[in-house]
Amino acid sequence: MEKENLFGKTLQELKEICSNLGLPSFASRQIAEWLYKKDISDIDGMSNLSLKNREILKENFNLGITAHSKVQVSADGTKKYLFPTKNIKFIEAAYIPETDRATLCVSSQIGCKMGCLFCMTGKQGFQGNLTAGEILNQVKALPERDKLTNIVYMGMGEPLDNTEEVLKSLEIFTAEWGFGMSPKRITVSTIGIIPALETFLNNSDCHLAISLHNPFDEERKKLMPIQNVYPIEDVIQFVKKFDWARQRRVSIEYIMFKGLNDTSRHVNQLARLLNGLNCRINLIRFHPIPDTPLESTDLKDILGFRDKLNGKGITATVRRSRGEDIYAACGLLSTKELIRTEKKDY
Ligand code: SF4
Repeated sequence: MEKENLFGKTLQELKEICSNLGLPSFASRQIAEWLYKKDISDIDGMSNLSLKNREILKENFNLGITAHSKVQVSADGTKKYLFPTKNIKFIEAAYIPETDRATLCVSSQIGCKMGCLFCMTGKQGFQGNLTAGEILNQVKALPERDKLTNIVYMGMGEPLDNTEEVLKSLEIFTAEWGFGMSPKRITVSTIGIIPALETFLNNSDCHLAISLHNPFDEERKKLMPIQNVYPIEDVIQFVKKFDWARQRRVSIEYIMFKGLNDTSRHVNQLARLLNGLNCRINLIRFHPIPDTPLESTDLKDILGFRDKLNGKGITATVRRSRGEDIYAACGLLSTKELIRTEKKDY
């Protein structure tokens, strides 16, 4: 039977493992320190555990930290790392350095089942959920980990379609026995799955980002099939009920498509929909993907859209495009790698 990984276990789970294996209870904290605060390449490296206890751990578990298999570097410093997962699948993590911060965009699933029209990951289809360990590994195995200031769950997959493992990863990122990061440094993005959104908001203090992309029901349905199940109107009404004090933020992601969601009509509807919600809209240029008729709104018109929103009292900013020369749109690099390995299999 394949051994389980230690990396990705919560302190509570480590306590249970120690108890089952006959290790002292205090060893669970020592193991957590080795996993989340120090750098080791194998269980032998846990030098404050007795030799016997390390042997017992090795007999039952793998460490579970995996290096990246590929990296692409953009002229602007953005790096896209490819990590292998089980069954020769691949996930991406994009490292985005800026003057005052360095952000890692992590994946939460292999592929995605949500089928958004503009998304390469959606075109891959769903191939599996990542475990908490596989989510955390994107940070742990990042060569620039010490420079990292922020984490965003905006890579491959819909985080709230894998809520249990995402919440577990957030616990380990923010726990004092884990990575010890502030939840204010972490943002989870969702297309708006209301029951899972409620679970996330009740069980985490991390920021929330909502992928909105069109405020009109019929138009959003064409871009994002989830609109048929959880209309954005309901999602926003639900989010408005929450307490957004205590420095917790909600932001709105809005990819701009030429002629589809960039008119004054959309400005007015956005202002109506978001009225009363203390949030910021991030306007994002669309990165073209193969086999789609969608085009990005021109920068000049994006700036005009921003100004109209600001004029209506809605804080809107334009997100700078990063890494366009390295398949920056999420899902492109892993799709390419998947095709390459699949071809190799024949
Ligand atoms: S945009 Fe997000 S939710 Fe939609 S298909 Fe892509 S990864 Fe899935």
